[in-house]
Amino acid sequence: STPASILSAIANGARNGVLFKGGVHLEKTATLKVLAFDKTGTLTHGMPELTQLITLGDVDEDDLLRRAAALESRSEHPLAKSIVRSATKRDLSLPPSTKFRAVPGQGVEGIVEGETLWIGNERLFEERGVPIPPDVLARARAIEDEGKTVMYAYAAPDFLGLLAVADTLREDAVEMITALKATGIERVVMLTGDNPRVAAKIAELAGVDEFHANLLPQDKVTVLQKLQNKYGPVAMVGDGVNDAPSLATADIGIAMGGAGTDVAIETADVVLMSDDLQKIPFSIDL
Ligand code: ADP
Ligand code: MG
Repeated sequence: STPASILSAIANGARNGVLFKGGVHLEKTATLKVLAFDKTGTLTHGMPELTQLITLGDVDEDDLLRRAAALESRSEHPLAKSIVRSATKRDLSLPPSTKFRAVPGQGVEGIVEGETLWIGNERLFEERGVPIPPDVLARARAIEDEGKTVMYAYAAPDFLGLLAVADTLREDAVEMITALKATGIERVVMLTGDNPRVAAKIAELAGVDEFHANLLPQDKVTVLQKLQNKYGPVAMVGDGVNDAPSLATADIGIAMGGAGTDVAIETADVVLMSDDLQKIPFSIDL
């Protein structure tokens, strides 16, 4: 009678908006010890608001936003979308950008109006050997301490400005984590490419057991492997922007179907059709 039970459970999942890609994933879900969550777009709404534009030198606000949005309009990252939304709100017309390249976990680069533009975090500049002036760094850190994510905009040899965005915790994240503990999950972990100051704030609000920040996509894979060795089967929940490697590494990859990218939905073992976090404890119970 096992196949019949499995089929009936998969059908039940589907009726509740949870797509299991096979019986084996359903069975494995019952053995999970650890749940790891991506931060942006999974524990948070992933619709960050641009809260501050700080211009440097003789750049004005609209100019900074226009050039940044021109480049970010090529990216599918939630941070990029927030910059483009703000530019649209101000009715700025965006010039074309060429040679666009996303640097996973760090930022983007490309050519806008004949200048090579970089937008990204501290790590992007560290890896490229471009020091951030101490006064600029101090201003950015102060904004990060408020739980906001700061992006630096740079066109050699000048830093053009800072763009700060604030993302909010999903309302049901705390309840979901409590429910997970009740199903017997031993540890709830948050993984993020964002900086440790913002990560600490969101981790505390959500009530996760541990968090790891400043992670590149391959670092998320390493952390998952350590969790697997220490506790046993691990699930990774992500929206897919830069998460495909970790969704593939985890014993169970769970993708947010609504906010998620095609590659995440493709790579995952389980898809939450409506992005409803409560469906995670539901799946484990099932
Ligand atoms: P998360 O784990 O929060 O989903 P990602 O790995 O997607 O993080 O990104 C990590 C960090 O890389 C972001 O917090 C940001 O600083 C930088 N970054 C990623 N994509 C972009 C982008 N399109 N524009 C600017 N910065 C970006
Ligand atoms: Mg992400």
